[in-house]
Amino acid sequence: MRVFDKNIDICHLLSEAVSEGIIVVNKDQLMVSINKKAAHLFEYTHKELLGKPLTELIPDKYKKAHKEHVKKYYRDVKKENMAGGRCVHGQRKSGEEFPLNVRFNPFSIYGNTYVLVLVNDLSERVQIEKNLDIKSEALEAAQNGIIISDALEEDHPIIYANRAFKKLTGYSESEVLNRNCRFLQKDDNDQRGIKIMDNAIKAGKKCQVRVRNYKKDGTLFWNEVSINPILNQEGKITHFIGIQHDITKRVKAEEEIRHFLKIFDDSLNEIYVFDAETLRFSHVNYGAQKNTGYSSREFRKITIKDLITGISEDRLREILDPLNLNNHKKVTFETLFKRKDGTTYPVEVHLQSSTLEDKVLTVVIALDISERKNYTQKLEKTVARRTQELNEALLKEKELSDLKTKFLSMVSHEFKTPLSTILTSATLVGKYTAADQQELRTKHLNSIASGVHHLTGILNDFLSIERLEQGKEIYRLTDFSLSKVINQVIYNANMLLKTGQKINYPMNIEDVIIHQDEKIVSLVLTNLLHNAIKYSPEETEIDLQINLDENTIYFHIIDRGIGIPKKDQKHIFERYFRADNVLLTQGTGIGLNIVKSHVENLGGDISFKSEENKGSTFTVTLPFNSNGEEF
Ligand code: ADP
Repeated sequence: MRVFDKNIDICHLLSEAVSEGIIVVNKDQLMVSINKKAAHLFEYTHKELLGKPLTELIPDKYKKAHKEHVKKYYRDVKKENMAGGRCVHGQRKSGEEFPLNVRFNPFSIYGNTYVLVLVNDLSERVQIEKNLDIKSEALEAAQNGIIISDALEEDHPIIYANRAFKKLTGYSESEVLNRNCRFLQKDDNDQRGIKIMDNAIKAGKKCQVRVRNYKKDGTLFWNEVSINPILNQEGKITHFIGIQHDITKRVKAEEEIRHFLKIFDDSLNEIYVFDAETLRFSHVNYGAQKNTGYSSREFRKITIKDLITGISEDRLREILDPLNLNNHKKVTFETLFKRKDGTTYPVEVHLQSSTLEDKVLTVVIALDISERKNYTQKLEKTVARRTQELNEALLKEKELSDLKTKFLSMVSHEFKTPLSTILTSATLVGKYTAADQQELRTKHLNSIASGVHHLTGILNDFLSIERLEQGKEIYRLTDFSLSKVINQVIYNANMLLKTGQKINYPMNIEDVIIHQDEKIVSLVLTNLLHNAIKYSPEETEIDLQINLDENTIYFHIIDRGIGIPKKDQKHIFERYFRADNVLLTQGTGIGLNIVKSHVENLGGDISFKSEENKGSTFTVTLPFNSNGEEF
């Protein structure tokens, strides 16, 4: 003690000048000197510690071990540090334990051995190390890849890469350290994100970019990289921290969403989304804009009500209610949509409900069914037309069968009289054997000839029908004298006249030459004159009048006969048709039908006016070409 008293000033000066705590113990382990720092460290006053054993400052549980150390120490005093670099534990006056670093320096003064104990509080350092450990643990445990590069070194080599980075990229630590992180780009370095990142690093700024990177095995992954510069106290960038986030799944999902959005937008089907409450549109696709003529901006100003015509708002809400209440998954109906220009078109509307955040939306998919409607209408028309055609065909078939029946009855009737005349005449001819009975024989032979003619005429008519039906009739147009044909026809007709009947000749036909089918003109007039004679009583006159204009000839055959009943008039040109008032007169119902076909084939027309019991006028119009050209 005295030694220290003597040198108190020097000791004091020295011990107070150093930053460590200093305790000097004598060989009995009693503290003989304590500097301020040491006293402060253990929360004692200098006086409280002086002369006290050093073990006062050691927690009970370590005291025994300490004694062992001391013994060992004195055995081998050459060892400078009793626990150099190792953490031992001290105890403050309050009883609090704390880590400290101690070094023992023995020395001797005036034959006494002392030990200078240098004490350093490690609490703070231990705490810092603990924190650092936690932080590096955290870095290692982070899910994101983290690298630290040295900004002070050329080309910023990586000095740290965490576990996640190695897992993400497939590179080992040795393959990563001391390299610039651009190896992740492989050759794909012409990227906007990379340029932004390079510029940010040059400018010492933080940035976040999305880049294409490649794993060690070449697999591409989308990397969302955040670069953060670390500054030292002088504001100089010493490091960059790069945080890697593999967003490949997100990018793919975004691409898919974009793709679906594109499908939605580009769809030619009309898709609308509107707020179920306000009925205002929130989104409409291209197809909707194209078909309605509204732009997407204009759509924002209108509601679904403006689009659907003919449905009141109340009715619309009635339709939407089951959807909004989740009672129905889908509602489908047909309606008309009104375009911007006011025109409408039929649509099949499919409504579905959807929610976005707290909003209830209605999704409308509308199919323009104009074509379908047109098609249906067309189909309906075609079906109606075909049905009508079938009905007509059926009717014709029925008529044909009726006509056949009529024909058979007509044939059996028409053939009966001439055949019985022929039979009678032939029988009679056989009876007139005397030489002077030649006149009677001739009369009956004439009757036979006339009967045969009549039958031939009927058969010719049938053949004529056959030819006309099959389009085999050949017309021969020639220039001929009208008066010659008329004389011939009237001459033949005169032979059939009943008692007192007379045919009046047409006027002003001398020298008229027409270009027509002579045989047909003759046939037509013969037929009409024969009918006029047949269906007129005795003592009546028949007129044959002829008018001509430049290219047309008009024949009028006028009789004062039985006429045609009104109800039968519309059927008069039908084959085998015979009016009710002629059933007792011979006839086939073929003549007029043939006449009409011929006249029409030659570009002409036939008509009549008739009144029962007053008479009939048949008019035939035929074109003729005076220059002799073919029709
Ligand atoms: P058909 O005289 O051999 O019966 P047509 O075809 O010549 O056959 O005439 C058809 C029908 O038209 C006749 O059955 C008759 O009812 C009516 N008819 C034609 N010409 C006259 C006429 N001049 N007067 C009255 N009825 C006529």
